[in-house]
Amino acid sequence: MRLLLIEDEPDLLSGLTRALRRAGYSVDVAEDGEEGLFKALEIDYDAILLDVMLPRLDGWGVLARLREKKSTPVMMLTARDATKDRVRGFDTGADDYLVKPFELDELLARLRALIRRSAGKSTPAIEIGAVKIDTASRTVTLGGEPVALTSREYAVLEYLALHRGKLVTRTTLYEHLYDESGDTLSNMMDVLIYNLRTKLGRDLITTRRGHGYCIP
Ligand code: CA
Repeated sequence: MRLLLIEDEPDLLSGLTRALRRAGYSVDVAEDGEEGLFKALEIDYDAILLDVMLPRLDGWGVLARLREKKSTPVMMLTARDATKDRVRGFDTGADDYLVKPFELDELLARLRALIRRSAGKSTPAIEIGAVKIDTASRTVTLGGEPVALTSREYAVLEYLALHRGKLVTRTTLYEHLYDESGDTLSNMMDVLIYNLRTKLGRDLITTRRGHGYCIP
């Protein structure tokens, strides 16, 4: 899952980026509203964390202009805890709202719920035959037995599972797995899919040559 973090406080930006990457997300960053809006329109993020007080274009402006074009899930981060701000956030099209200072665990839990809801899932567990994915703990079992996946393998599996029944192109997978800091290897996806099939069963993921992958 790939996130955009729009935040102008350098310490919070770097701390949060590190924490989100540790939690398994790919993270792009923007330090002002205009750069943030540009990236948000350019790339299909799984969720956007949006500070309210930002240079050049504030969070309200970013959200309003984003919503003219896209429905990417947005969580507003703000130091202000006034009810009228929260109401304004939701009325402008925010999907969630978190007041600073916040606990990292709460941010991560809300983020998981936000991404889950946007994929139309109401619970953290996804079952595909004998394979069970717990998106809250990021763990996978096969027939009740835990299966160890690398962070990248898990990310591919979770994305395909959340979009079950849909053909997901390699381009889409790359876009949601890597961020602007990472270098990509074009044959990497074949290896990840091969590993997932080896660990979880040959039939789990279908390949459509030249098009992409699908969990039917
Ligand atoms: Ca700020």
